[in-house]
Amino acid sequence: MTLIRNTVLFALSSIVAVASAQADLDCPGLIPRPFSSIETRIDLGNGQIIEAKNIDCKKVNVGAKVVLGIQQMLGRALPYPSSIHYRMVDKFDNAFFDPSDVSLNVPYQLVLDNYSKNPVYSPAVWAHEYGHSVLDAVLRSAAPQWRAIIKRKLADDTGTPAQVLDLLISSYHEFFADVIAVLYTQKPDAVARGLYMTGFMTNPEGSPSVCPNKSSEKCRPRNRTSDPRVIATSRDFADRHNQLGTWRGVDPSDDHDLLAPARFHIWKYYLSNPQIKHEEGKLAATTVDAIMADVNARIKRVMNLPGGINRANLQREMGDVQRINREFIDQIDATFKKAF
Ligand SMILES: [Zn+2]
Repeated sequence: MTLIRNTVLFALSSIVAVASAQADLDCPGLIPRPFSSIETRIDLGNGQIIEAKNIDCKKVNVGAKVVLGIQQMLGRALPYPSSIHYRMVDKFDNAFFDPSDVSLNVPYQLVLDNYSKNPVYSPAVWAHEYGHSVLDAVLRSAAPQWRAIIKRKLADDTGTPAQVLDLLISSYHEFFADVIAVLYTQKPDAVARGLYMTGFMTNPEGSPSVCPNKSSEKCRPRNRTSDPRVIATSRDFADRHNQLGTWRGVDPSDDHDLLAPARFHIWKYYLSNPQIKHEEGKLAATTVDAIMADVNARIKRVMNLPGGINRANLQREMGDVQRINREFIDQIDATFKKAF
């Protein structure tokens, strides 16, 4: 889920065969629900394996609490994998959900640029990854139909239908995974803090003494497109900088960043709304409905352009990040108005 390697890992993980499932840890009561296996190594493919040192059932149990808590939160509102391969290592600079074998691959403690985060921030990261698994479960029934539609209007040099669908949907995947983390933690900045409150984020100069006070102006994120701290703030649902109109897209090619204004909007008007905020399952399901409707509209619009689904038309559709957010926000309003 992290800002640097997640997109690559997420795409990579669907094509690389992961080592066959093998239970390393036997934690009473955690298999088969919520986990089908508990392993203490993560296979990144290409010979890269992350080995854990001291993961025990106590630490795994914290992860199980997150997974079971989200399952309980969703109730019957959305499908989710009831049993999932769980791989936990002690420290790593990323976390990912692997749809190819329905696995959560997470560190107990996130480490970015040699700065270890307090594990207290990790549950938001795990919740984000489990959020991916929920949307993946939904899309398993919708995706074949979408791929068939795309295939009919796909120009030769534009990639496979699955690649086009990935391009159209990946920013919604990150959006939804963050929504699950925010609903679960009830904190709009849970994911942002999971990333931002890391040493190098608050203190790029590298010395903790430079930024002892995190609220100090010089330690605040800057508006530079390459600044990872700014990408972290785009995950903060309550950060006013993300409001549509004033938001300056940081890195539109980053799927985690693209729908920042939609994050701000959905939190302000729905997820934090005192009248409905306790209906987490329905809020999550309605978010899925809005995503499905918006992706549907986007596919239809591209395929009806002269030339059909080709590179230029995809670029036209996905290139204007302000418009993408405006349209999705309109879709969110229409869908939530109907549901609540
Ligand atoms: Zn993610």
